[in-house]
This record gives sequence, C-alpha cells and structure tokens, in this order.
Amino acid sequence: QKQVLLFQEGDASMKMLLGGKGANLAEMTRAGLPVPPGFTITTEACLTFFKVGNRISDELFDQISATLKALEKQKGQLFGDDTNPLLVSVRSGSVSSMPGMMDTILNLGLNDLTVQGLAALTSNETFAYDCYRRLMQMFGNVVLGIESYHFEQLLHRLKENEGAEHDQDISAIGWKLLIEDYKKCILAKTGRAFPQHVYEQLRMAIEAVFKSWNNPRAHIYRKINRIPDDQGTAVNIQSMVFGNRGGNCGTGVVFTRNPSTGENTFFGEYLINAQGEDVVAGIRTPLAIAALKEEMPEIYEQLFAASKQLEKHYKDMQDIEFTVENNKLYLLQTRNGKRNAQAALKIAVDLVHEGLLSKQEAIGRIEVSHLDQLLHRGMDEEAIKDVLAKGLPASPGAAVGQLVFDADTAAEWSRAGKSVILARNETTPEDIHGVIASEGILTSRGGMTSHAAVVARGMGKPCVCGCEEVRIMLEDKQMTAGGRIVEEGDWITLDGATGRVILGAMPLREAQMTDELLTVLQWADEIRTLNVYANADNPEDAKTARKLGAQGIGLCRTEHMFFSPTRLPVVQQMILADNKEKRLQALAKLLPMQQSDFEGIFEEMDGLPVTIRLLDPPLHEFLPNIEELQKRHIQLTFESEGADSEREETANLLRKVQALHETNPMLGQRGCRLGIVFPEIYDMQIEAIFRAASKCNNKGIRVIPEIMIPLVGHANELKVLRELVDFVAEQVMGKDNLRECPYKVGTMIEVPRAALTARQIVAYADFFSFGTNDLTQMTYGYSRDDAEGKFLTHYVDHKLLPHNPFQVLDTEGVGQLIELAVHGGRSMKPSLKTGICGEHGGDKESIFFCHLMGLDYVSCSPFRIPLARIAAAQAFI
Ligand code: PEP
Ligand code: MG
Repeated sequence: QKQVLLFQEGDASMKMLLGGKGANLAEMTRAGLPVPPGFTITTEACLTFFKVGNRISDELFDQISATLKALEKQKGQLFGDDTNPLLVSVRSGSVSSMPGMMDTILNLGLNDLTVQGLAALTSNETFAYDCYRRLMQMFGNVVLGIESYHFEQLLHRLKENEGAEHDQDISAIGWKLLIEDYKKCILAKTGRAFPQHVYEQLRMAIEAVFKSWNNPRAHIYRKINRIPDDQGTAVNIQSMVFGNRGGNCGTGVVFTRNPSTGENTFFGEYLINAQGEDVVAGIRTPLAIAALKEEMPEIYEQLFAASKQLEKHYKDMQDIEFTVENNKLYLLQTRNGKRNAQAALKIAVDLVHEGLLSKQEAIGRIEVSHLDQLLHRGMDEEAIKDVLAKGLPASPGAAVGQLVFDADTAAEWSRAGKSVILARNETTPEDIHGVIASEGILTSRGGMTSHAAVVARGMGKPCVCGCEEVRIMLEDKQMTAGGRIVEEGDWITLDGATGRVILGAMPLREAQMTDELLTVLQWADEIRTLNVYANADNPEDAKTARKLGAQGIGLCRTEHMFFSPTRLPVVQQMILADNKEKRLQALAKLLPMQQSDFEGIFEEMDGLPVTIRLLDPPLHEFLPNIEELQKRHIQLTFESEGADSEREETANLLRKVQALHETNPMLGQRGCRLGIVFPEIYDMQIEAIFRAASKCNNKGIRVIPEIMIPLVGHANELKVLRELVDFVAEQVMGKDNLRECPYKVGTMIEVPRAALTARQIVAYADFFSFGTNDLTQMTYGYSRDDAEGKFLTHYVDHKLLPHNPFQVLDTEGVGQLIELAVHGGRSMKPSLKTGICGEHGGDKESIFFCHLMGLDYVSCSPFRIPLARIAAAQAFI
C-alpha cells in the first residue's frame, strides 16, 4: 500500500490521509501555483509507526527513498551530493490544524561535505554555513531533544566575540566556528555526533515528527479542541527554497483578509534575506506587507493574485507562507487562516455577500466556540480603579464574586446562592466541584495550559492564571496582592480577557451583539427546525434570554426563588413546622413572593411558553449544615451560663435536621416524592402560578404556563400530581378564565424508569423534558456532585470515556433512553411536546443529537442561546 505520495499525486479531498498541509500543497501544485516540489508521508504511515513500536519499517523507508529519487529527478539535484545537493524541509501536518504544536526541521541534507557544495553552487559561503548551523540547531532541538537555549547561548557568545549586532552580520568564518561549537555541544549532551549521513538525518527527523504527535503540548491542544488522539500526523518533505540567500530573497506570511477584524484587506509581514522561522521568532522586526509593493512590485502583484486565487478556490480566508528566492516567488503552504470571533463572523457574512458562499455554508463554517468568546461579559473600563494584580488571560470573560480559597467552600457558598471566585495556588482535578461552582478562577501558579486554564476554558468560565503577585495563605483564609490583604468573602472581579484581578465588584458590560452576529443568527433561524428555549429562574434572566432569542423558557427552577436571604427564613419555617397548620402559615407567606416572581417572568415572556418546575431538591438543602449544628450543640451544652433558650432551640433544630438527613439524598425524598408527601407545598406553588397568570391575563399579557413535575419514575406519581394541578388551576382561575390560559402539565424524564415506561407516563403528560443531568447521573450511577473530583477526570484523561458525560451527552447510553422515551411517548400521543433542559441543552454535539431525535426544543442558559441557535442550524445542515 502506498504510504508516500508526491504532491502532484494528491488533492484537497485527501486531507485525512495527507493532513491539512499535505492536501493543500497537493491542491496548490495541481492548480499550477509555484510550490517547491515534495512529497507527503501519510497519517496511515504514522499510525503504523506507533503500532510497530515507534519505528519506521524497512518497507516504509524503501517507499520514502524511492519517492525521494523521484524528487531528485524533478529537481535535478541529488540528496547528499557534494556538488549539487538536494536539501529538504521536514514538517508535520495533522488532519486538524494544530498551529505551533508540532515540529519542523529545515535545511536537512547538509553535512560537512554538502555544505561545501552549496557554498560553491550559490557562490555564497556565508549563506551555506548559516543554513548548516540552522539545521544543527533545529535538529539538535527537535530530534535530539537538546534545549534551544544551549544553542542560543553559543550563538550569543559568537556574536559578542565577532562584535556582531545581528545574525546577518556574522561571517562565514564565524558560522564555521559556531558549527564546531554546536558539534561539541551535541556530542556532550547526547553522547553521539551530529549525523553526517543524510539518510540517517532523514530517518531521525521523520521519527521525531511522528513522535511529536504525542508531546505534552500537542496532547493538551487536542484535548482543548476535542481533536481525536488517533488521527496521527502526516509528514511533508519539501525541497528547500531559500529566502536567506541575499537582498533579492525574503520570506513572509500573508492573510487574504485581516484576521483580527475580518476586513477585506491584504494583511501580513515579511523579511528580506531571512529564512522561515525568523519571521515568527521575532528575532528581527518584520515589515508590513504593503512595503513589499515598493520593494518588489512584481512579486507583490504575483503574491496578491495567487492569494486571491487561493481564497476563491478554498472559499475562505487563507493564511499563506511564501518565500522569494532570487526574485522568484514560491508558495510554501496555505491553510484556512485562524481568526478571532468577530473576524470569523465578518468574513463569513462578507463571503456570502460576495457570492462565494451560501448562507448554509457560512453557518456550517462557524465555530460555536467563537460565539462563546463574543458572548462573554466584559468589563466597563471606566469603572476600574483598583487593579490588584495581573496574571495570564487564560479564559475570556469577566466575573464578579466573593473570594474563597478552597473548593468545598466555593461549592457550599454557591449552593447558598452566593457568587464566588475561587482562588488557588493551582487547581487539581479534586477542585473540580469548586471550579464548577465558581463564577471565575484565579490561580497564582501555572500557565495557559494548566489545569485551571484548560478546565475553565472548557466550561466557558473566566480564568486568570499564573498570577504570581498573588500570595495565598490558606490557613488564614487570606491572600496578599499589590501590597494589600484580601480576605475570604471580599468581593473581587476577574477579567479573563486581559488577566486583571480587580478589587471590588465591578459593573459588567453584557455580551455584545454585533451586526454580523445578528445577521448570522437570523440565517440560522431561517434554517433550523429545533426551537431554542432558556433555563431562567427570574425576570432578569428571562429578559436576557428573550433578547438573545429564546423562544420560551424550558426550565424555571423554582427552588432558586427560595434561596434569597429574605426568603430562606420563611422556607425554613415551612420545613421546620411542627404541624400542618404552621406549615400552611409559612406557605401563605411564601405564596405572594413566588407569585410576584412568576408575574415578572410571564411579563417578560409575553406570548411565549414558560415551563415552571415545581420544587425539586431535598428539604435539608434549605437548612443549616448538620455537622456545624452538632458542633454548636456540643458547645452550648458545655457552656454553663445562661442561653437556655438558645440551647433548646439548637437541640430542636438539630433533631429536625437529623430527621430529614438522608444517606443518599440525590436518591431520596426530592422531586415529585416531596410533592406527594407534602402536597401543600406544590399546592402553594401551583396557586402562585395561576394567580400570577390570572393577573397578567388581566393586563393583556399572553401567558402560556407549562407546569413540570420533576423526578417522576412511575405513572401514578404523575397521575396524582396532574390531578392536583388541574384542580388548583380551576379553583384559582375558574373554568371560564382557564380557557384564556392554555396551560400544559408535563414531566421531566430524569429517572431511567420513566424513560422505560414512557408509554404509561405519557397518559398524564402533555410534554416530556429530558433532565439529562439527573438522567446521566442515574443511568451511569455517577454522583453528579462528586464524580468529577473523584474518578471522572481520570476516566476522561485515560480515555475510558470519550467525554465527561455531564458535559457532552452520552448518546450511546443515555441517548438510548431518550430515544425510547420519545418513541414510546409519541406512539401513544403524537402531539407530545419534547425537549431537553439539562446542561447538555447548550452543548453543540448534544444539540446535534437532540435534532436527530426530533425533539421540539433544547433549553439552555441564556448566554448559550446564540450558540444553540447556530448549532441547531448546523445540525439541520
Ligand atoms: C436535570 O436533572 O437535568 C435538570 C435539568 O434538573 P436539575 O439540574 O435541577 O436537577
Ligand atoms: Mg434534575
């Protein structure tokens, strides 16, 4: 089987085999563009290489040698020849773009003899020896694993000795001296001499590029960008052209459009008399591409024309590397250019307007992660006064919260309704529950690929990393920064886009809706069939959701209305009531509070469905922590003086909390089980809903309430509670008025048994909403609150699972239950409405699955709505 292909033997459709770079080089060669000839070793060869123990088989090396012979013929040069030597570059080229993640070696084929040939051939000794020392440096680093600074130190010393300011000022003699130094360095560090045999160089370089697929930074990049580990990389061997041969040579990079604004202007930079890496390495400051128009007008025109040709061909903005050798232009590679979020949208919209793309193609191109960036909250710059410290901008967006220093406190405070910022020296997988619970993450150690950065980005949370000015003193629950002490509970603001840590709660600027984004979203709405609802618990979120395009509310978690500081005591009175009468008294106080919330939400959602879920969490979540109460109780028992009443009160409270305590609360008295045992709670909630509906109706607002019962596992549970809803609705509104308020009653499908018995349950349900957080928890048997910190991260890291199933829906397992329930339900009741309201409702891949299942809607947090609208359109395409 052919595992090595000349450029002219491939084309753009062979990307899986040739990698992105190889496929594009082949395509450019076919289009007649000036590409230096070469060949590609396929990704299949790479996978075989790993399979046979990181070794190039003889068979593969034979194919490489044979193809190299063909290349020699094409170029009229010989590899390893000491009069007319062929030199090549060896570069990785993966299927999915991984810029800067893997390795490149230039000038391969030079040794003590061929360098003399090159010098004679080009009549330029300085150039030839510069190429040789560059090869040794790159080979030494990439292939032999010697840290670059060893070579840089030697180069630096040479420059000092020669009194040279720039690399170009060094003479051939200087380079020769350096080459001797490099040889000694390589021998000392590896115990082996720099290989003089050119085929040995080639073999080692190819091996190193294959192996670079598994270097840590490549692993992390793939993880962040969800690129499969089993793709492997191709290797491109291309004949060298030289931009460093003199004044009529140069090298550069151009973008066909501006990658940071998206504007349709030629953009890029170049260096005269330089080789590839010099532009990126920042050793010399490159010139803007416009200057090339003056300096080499013909080359500029050719480059411009080729760029336009490539952009048209690929129907996308291109990032092109070029080299000029002796006044001749060569294109070394082209690829779809990386761009920021705003530029991506502008380019997509412009390409449609220019007739190059259809709307569907443009939507298909949009990376939903880009929308994340655009839609994150930012800072109001005017308001910022007190910048405490600055770290790395690890994950965009701004976050405000109260400072905590450990994950448990973060989780606890967040459960109590507080906004928290978690500050740690560094985070580990054990902190994951704290990361989840926090608005933003701050670490004093670790870089852009540290655990905190990777995890926060994955979750779309603002994160500032490696903020070394910050010193955390865990024992004292304090940190110092900028000469100040900040305590646990103090408010701080993080700006993940710039890395700033700011004292105090700064006002945040909401996400921006640019014209381009609005256009793209409108196109998406024209295409998609899946509706997008929001998870929103209060009028403010409802308003945001509607602004971002929500077509309804798919989940209003009513317990969130219970957690506010003014309401919690009343909720506690209700829970701790000794008898029904007292409970009813407390509920009567709660009723107007809930009613006013519902009114606010109905007003915002005028004319759109609002799904309200009745109380779900176990009651102990509203009560003080049992261990703390025990401690307090013991303390009071030993205090001799006074406070009898407090002692008694604490004992009483402790008894109640103990009575409600469950070993396994997530599988305990929660959801509809609570509503069945304490019907008066649900009764109050239903009454509040219909009172609010009635009041809004009278104001001319169209209310469409959909009442949702959580955690149903048996049809009888829903039967009883549906009767309760219908009864209370009629009592509150009266038969006639109810006609004005077409409400629905439905259930969440969160317990596997509910999915299995959907045919029975549907008799009492107008809609099913998949609560995939609990459904995942109960299908896998993984505690949603503990699994990540304990074993789940390990599972994902070690590839036992492809994803964290709480983030990306497990279509294989949980998905089967969804399918079963949708089919079962619809077979008995074709009009059944179906949707999803777990976290998965805002995840692209999960949205694709929901579309496939034919669900009516997905429901997600307000800020993910634009993303969901685009993903739903992409699912349709
Ligand atoms: C769910 O379980 O998926 C759900 C939406 O409910 P909650 O997260 O409130 O348990
Ligand atoms: Mg749930």
